[in-house]
Parts: sequence; structure tokens; C-alpha cells
Amino acid sequence: MQLASGIVVAETQIGKVRLNEYRPEQPGFSSHFDALDMDRLRFGIYSATAADVERALRQPERLESLMALLSPAAASYLENMAQLSVAATRKRFGANIGLYLPLYLSNLCANECDYCGFTMGNRIKRKTLNDEELAREMAIIKGRGFDSVLLVSGEHETKVGMDYFRRILPSVKQQFSHLAMEVQPLAEGEYRELVSLGLDAVMVYQETYQRRTYAAHHTRGRKSDFGWRLDTPDRLARAGVDKIGLGVLLGLDDWRLDALVMGHHLHYLERRHWRSRYSISLPRLRPCVGGVPPKVELSDRGLVQLICAFRLFSDSLDISLSTRESPELRDNLFSLGVTQVSAGSATSPGGYAAPQSQLDQFEISDERTVDLVVAELQLRGLNPVFKDWERSWIAG
Ligand code: SF4
Repeated sequence: MQLASGIVVAETQIGKVRLNEYRPEQPGFSSHFDALDMDRLRFGIYSATAADVERALRQPERLESLMALLSPAAASYLENMAQLSVAATRKRFGANIGLYLPLYLSNLCANECDYCGFTMGNRIKRKTLNDEELAREMAIIKGRGFDSVLLVSGEHETKVGMDYFRRILPSVKQQFSHLAMEVQPLAEGEYRELVSLGLDAVMVYQETYQRRTYAAHHTRGRKSDFGWRLDTPDRLARAGVDKIGLGVLLGLDDWRLDALVMGHHLHYLERRHWRSRYSISLPRLRPCVGGVPPKVELSDRGLVQLICAFRLFSDSLDISLSTRESPELRDNLFSLGVTQVSAGSATSPGGYAAPQSQLDQFEISDERTVDLVVAELQLRGLNPVFKDWERSWIAG
């Protein structure tokens, strides 16, 4: 039915949801998603038995297995899962751990997300890097040895949109072999253009796959369009982006269910768009200016279970670990299944040249320098890799 405001409201099995204007031009994950029965998935997770978990450990790459490995029943098998996860990671990735740094371009944002320090309503100082400031940040990151960079911004299509990206990407690509972005979802043609300017990877986190929770946390701006975001990985793959990152913000809702639906998303993408590679991030909700506390706490053991479950589910998947987690926990996770880590991160625009905590997106937990993190990795027999990508190797 249509309300006086013009918003279309429909009854579904999960209650009333707002349908946005977005309608996919080509079928994408959203049509698969609409067919998922969330109640059945939730029931499957919470009713899994020890026998289901043991079966899943023998054949972990199926969706039913992921469901069992994410279940409460799998908690008693954590040691077994960890050993299998380490072995699967070593077999596929060796002892290599890729290192990258986020470079914050801007904290301008036209969305309201109540868990984020950049949310539009927060009265913080806003800043977008100019060419000089960008060059300074890049020089610092390069000086620390990094050759892989993740450009991050709030989502502001007019002020930090395609015109800005077109201008800065060539100079960033001159400095870094691997260029990833975490910005607002774009159209397929826009991604194609950015690929021609050197874009290698895009991270686009759904935050939560539970529509009502999503609507409650994303109240204004384009990000409130659940379907537009959900089909972004399809647009990225069609545009030829080499690596696509999925993620959920752990703590917004039931993490087991969010992780399982992300597994469905990954499974769909790996089969539909097999030319792209995939990564996941598993960030836990962190404190920020004006931010909400987690609705559902995820313990350290729960995070270990999640990492191991995904490693066993997809052996070629990159798993990223940011500085949101504590040094002690990160040190233990490095060997478990993680393949990409950041170190010495700043989470504000201009934060490497001039740290200003009031501009941060969220609080960092591991504040060690990159040298200390590298030393820790080596102590654990791991091989820190600053460069493992060169576009000319695959250019025809
Ligand atoms: S999560 Fe992203 S879109 Fe939402 S307020 Fe923060 S920067 Fe903006």
C-alpha cells in the first residue's frame, strides 16, 4: 500500500518494510535474498546438533555446513575448527599475511548511521583532503613501506563523488600497486571508469542483512536503500573489479544470522561472478562519538568461531582484520585464518600527518606501529607481505 508520504509499504514475513525506489536493471543477489527464509535459517542455526557440526567439519564448503559451524553447538568444537582453519589457510596462502593501510579522504557524509562517528547529524569538524594533503598522507604511508592502500570516505555523492575520484585516482595509482576503495556504492559504469583509472578492489559492507535492523540504523540518505547496497557486489563484478569485499558490522543484530546470510551472498557471488576474488571483514561495533552500543555482544571466542567457519567454508577467501581489535587478540588471530591486516592505522582524513581524534570514524584498539606488528608476525613464523600485486602481470 502507499502512504500519503508516497512511501510504499509492504507486508512481508518479517513485518513492515520500506521499499525504496531502487529496482535492479539486471538480476542480482537481491532476488536470491528475497527468497531466503530468515526464520528457517535462524532455526537451523539454533537447532544444529553435535552430529551436524561433525558432518560440517568433514565437508565444510556447503551452506548447510556453514550454518552448523556458526551455531552454538559448534562452540565445543572450537579447537578442532581452529586447527583445520590454520591448515586450510597455510595450504592456500602459505604463511603470507598482506599488509595495507586505510587512507581517509573525507569525513563528509550524507547518511545517518547511528553507529558511526561520521553520521550526518554529528556536529564534528568536516574535512576533505585537497591534493596537497593527499600527497602528504600518501608519502607517509609509502614511507612506512606500504604498497597497498584502501581509500576510505564518508558517503557524500556530490562533494566526494566521481569528480573527486577521477581527479585523485591516477596520482594514488602512481604511488601504490594495489588500490582499494571503501566509499559510497556507485553505478556499474562508474566502477568501470574507476577500474580504467587503476581501481583493483572495493569493500562494500552490508552492515546487517536483517531488513528491519538495517532500516532502524540507516535512517537518512542513500544508504537507507537496502537493495541498492545489496546488489552493489553484482555491479562491481560486472564492471570488472578484481576483488570485492563483503562485511557485516557485528553487534547490530544476531551475528550468527548476519554471518550466515553473508555466506549465502558469498556463495552466490563465487558462482555467478567467478572472475572476481572475494574478501570479508568481520568488524565488531566500536565506540565512536554519539554511537550506539552493540545490541548483541560478540565474544572473542565467537569471533574466532566466525573466522574459522568462513575459512573452512571458502578456502580461497581473503579475511581482513583491522585495528579495531586489541593487540593481544589480533596476535592470536594472525595465525588462525586471517590473510590481510592493517597496522598503524589512522581513521580520520589527514590523520597520518596530523592526528586529530575528534575527526575519527571509530576508536582504534591496536595502536602499535607497523614495525611492532611486523615483528609480531615474524615471531609467529608468518611472512608480512607489503606488495603482492602488480597490474602489469595480468595486463594482456
Ligand atoms: S557508516 Fe558510512 S555511510 Fe554511515 S555515517 Fe558512517 S561514513 Fe556515513
